[in-house]
Amino acid sequence: MDPPLAPPPPHVIIFPLAAQGHVNSMLKLAELLAHSGLRITFINSEYIHHRLLRHADIQARFTAFPDFRFKIISDGLPLDHPRSSDHFMTTFSYVKSITMQLLEELVSAPDRPVTCIIADGILTFTIDFAGDLGVPVVAFRTISASCFWAYFCFPRMVESGDLPIKGDEDMDRVVTSVKGMEDILRCRDLPSFCRVADLSDWTLQYVPTQTLQTTRARALILNSFDQLEGPAISQIRTHFPNLYTIGPLHSHLKSRLSSSSPSPSSPPPSPASNSIWEVDRSCISWLDKQPPKSVIYVSFGSITTLNRHDFTEFWYGLVNSGRRFLWVVRPDSLAEGGSGAVPEELREAVAERGCVVGWAPQEEVLHHGAVAAFLTHSGWNSTLESVVAGKPMVCWPCLADQQVNSRLVSHAWKVGLDMKDVCDREVVERMVNGVMGERQEEFAAAAGDLARMAREAMSEGGSSWGNLDRLIEDIRSMKPSS
Ligand code: UDP
Repeated sequence: MDPPLAPPPPHVIIFPLAAQGHVNSMLKLAELLAHSGLRITFINSEYIHHRLLRHADIQARFTAFPDFRFKIISDGLPLDHPRSSDHFMTTFSYVKSITMQLLEELVSAPDRPVTCIIADGILTFTIDFAGDLGVPVVAFRTISASCFWAYFCFPRMVESGDLPIKGDEDMDRVVTSVKGMEDILRCRDLPSFCRVADLSDWTLQYVPTQTLQTTRARALILNSFDQLEGPAISQIRTHFPNLYTIGPLHSHLKSRLSSSSPSPSSPPPSPASNSIWEVDRSCISWLDKQPPKSVIYVSFGSITTLNRHDFTEFWYGLVNSGRRFLWVVRPDSLAEGGSGAVPEELREAVAERGCVVGWAPQEEVLHHGAVAAFLTHSGWNSTLESVVAGKPMVCWPCLADQQVNSRLVSHAWKVGLDMKDVCDREVVERMVNGVMGERQEEFAAAAGDLARMAREAMSEGGSSWGNLDRLIEDIRSMKPSS
């Protein structure tokens, strides 16, 4: 008699919001799970997928896993549509209906029974829908634990009078109703959506409501580690007993790959690129020619735009600092449109000590020996990448969780300075020289400590390593849908 067939591996559907930061971290999670033998279906937007195929190495990386597949959905806009930062809202109902249809098909397919869905925690409609289909949902939030917790405390902030922020309010007023973070947050450090006087504002209602609804998911995954955001994480755990803090994912993936590489002498794996923009590697050749720790890397992420005033102030501030700089100016970086070109009188100085590219291989840049610090918009991926690389930061937060993250940098971890709310050339110059000059040693030492803690969390026996193992075991113990 033939031996009984081994049961198929658990099948996980992963569904991110169609934005660079979200897709980036959820693809890293997908790769980690595929690496541990799980069967993965990754739902990707047609627009993002098309760009990943053009600019990243996803094809080669994922064909290595025979049980991995992409399912592509349209967001209803043509591929060449210049999607604005708020297109998620305008395309939301279309994406929702098309995803629900796809999930129904996937769950009813007899050949690949679905074990669970890991859904972007901002897309909570998946929780109800999957519940109706009898499939557990694990929510994944791509923001910091601290910001997640601040959203979660929204009703308490209203009840206590911390919100709404009144028009003429002192923005330095301390916010006391976010438990565990009482000595950290001021009004100006709350998520940007909180800066409205009207509590019925749509975004102010939407984001915290989605966050509170996450409690209906089977479990919650955060791209953070316990030692980085202890106060927020321990509070979140009281509401989510099944919490998996498994970050920083980009580095956790590398750590697992090198621990399973065939021989100890194999070269460490290079950063997996999930870039949706064309990477300009000329900046690496430029960095190779700069002295050690002499450059400040400047990037405001994948969607943030600057207005012309702020752009000009950054040009002058960077040049006046006298430091070398590498600045990522995306083709769509200027809010009003146009190029954000260098002011005429600065051209010579910029040519002497600046390098400007449309998109950089950021992880590689941050690990480059010539880079001393990072001027960032404090997006959560950028913040984690800087933490892992041990680089001090100057923060210019613009929206969403960035206001909270920059406060962690300056006040909780003390690895940099926060420019928040004031963008003028003197401030830029002073802050750049703060992290590159007067306080360089102090910040570099603190950033080095944080990087060491991140490495420990992602090593065998560390908290993120153990939590990922627990997540995989828990998925293996779930019953598939049919
Ligand atoms: N990034 C990059 N090259 C660039 C600028 C950004 O690879 O020139 C990547 C960066 O490494 C990060 C992501 O884009 O992984 C930006 O995510 P983040 O959460 O920091 O900000 P968002 O783009 O979501 O505002």
